[in-house]
Amino acid sequence: MSHDAHDLSRRDMIRIGATGVAAASIAGLPVLADDKAAPDKLPTRRYGRTGLEIGWLVGASDWPKELIPRAVNAGVNYWHKAQAWNADTLPPALKKLPREAYYLECVVDRVNGDHTRGKIDEERHYEFVKDRLKKSGVGYYDVFKFHFGYHSIEEAKQNSGMVRAFERLKKEGLVKHLAISQHHYNSIGGDMAWEIMHYLADNRPYEATQFFHTYGDRKEVAEWIETAKKKDIGTIAMKTMGGVGRAANDEKFKKLLADPKFQGSTPASAMVKWLRSNENLTAAVIANKNFDQFRENTLAAASLAMKPQDHAALGLLAGHNKGLTCLLCAECVSVCPEHIAIADIFRYERYARDYYDVDRARKEYASLTRNGTTCVGCGDCLPTCSQEIDISAKLKDVHRLLG
Ligand code: SF4
Ligand code: SF4
Repeated sequence: MSHDAHDLSRRDMIRIGATGVAAASIAGLPVLADDKAAPDKLPTRRYGRTGLEIGWLVGASDWPKELIPRAVNAGVNYWHKAQAWNADTLPPALKKLPREAYYLECVVDRVNGDHTRGKIDEERHYEFVKDRLKKSGVGYYDVFKFHFGYHSIEEAKQNSGMVRAFERLKKEGLVKHLAISQHHYNSIGGDMAWEIMHYLADNRPYEATQFFHTYGDRKEVAEWIETAKKKDIGTIAMKTMGGVGRAANDEKFKKLLADPKFQGSTPASAMVKWLRSNENLTAAVIANKNFDQFRENTLAAASLAMKPQDHAALGLLAGHNKGLTCLLCAECVSVCPEHIAIADIFRYERYARDYYDVDRARKEYASLTRNGTTCVGCGDCLPTCSQEIDISAKLKDVHRLLG
């Protein structure tokens, strides 16, 4: 690390440590003088069987456009949901690079409905990717990713449409690797994400996976990450910042965090370091609304190890999350007699309360066929929740927020 960069890191960490997740907009930030003022370079890891060496923080096409040149400069080279970019909106910071210097991922959704109701349709997925390539002019996508994934192992066994679409595109040189972003589907009688991913690893040509993962969630996720590493399957954690955003806005939490034992750490930076400390995990998707958040995350990802303050900050966050923050484990969903997609509803709450993206949260909530108002208050879900959340009361609260 250069002397200047080291000074910046220390200065930033002190400032970030004092303020938590800053709310400043990019427009309000000073223009940094040169590359020395950029965050430290991200480490890279091998993305499983794809063989791609990707920066530990995954970029996303919905990041603020002002952030993208700085992210590229810091070593972000893998771009999630890149199909959203066309020839006009593809960031100049990428356009000026040789095409092989960065990796673009095209996510492919089911058709004729959302991820729970839509269908897999080989021809339409094939045409979708061709259309996005034509409009973007990027030539090829490095990764074809089945967005939201299979509903069950049975569906993965029976329906090869997504894989066939990928194979046709690959033969034409239009995509290179196959990955999946897998959700839980026990709310519709399907399987949990890790069950499906274990099946895929041995039976389908998927080279990499993406799934929910945050501090304190179920052991099966950690087990999947370990297995994936052994089988050379790439792993990207998403929905990583469980409770971080709402803690940053909680006055009581902020007062507790001011204790010297947390000095130099924040829940956000501690979470990033904790994720990165798992050598088996390839990378993480972390929402970045502004440069301060990005800088905090990058500095943490570039740091070598968790310190006692980081462990303490995560412990404080875990205590704050109890009874309040859903970790999206979906354990409660299987027992609900009303088949309410509880974990999906609380995921939308997270968009609003942790990522401050209320518009997206409301839009997703509005698309549900059974929202929080269908809860009959039977209480069957309560014993299943490791977070000790009063789920029925929270469903009402989230409905007030998003309904
Ligand atoms: S209390 Fe509501 S959410 Fe919980 S199991 Fe009963 S109906 Fe489902
Ligand atoms: S409410 Fe509790 S049991 Fe249900 S998904 Fe969230 S953390 Fe898991």
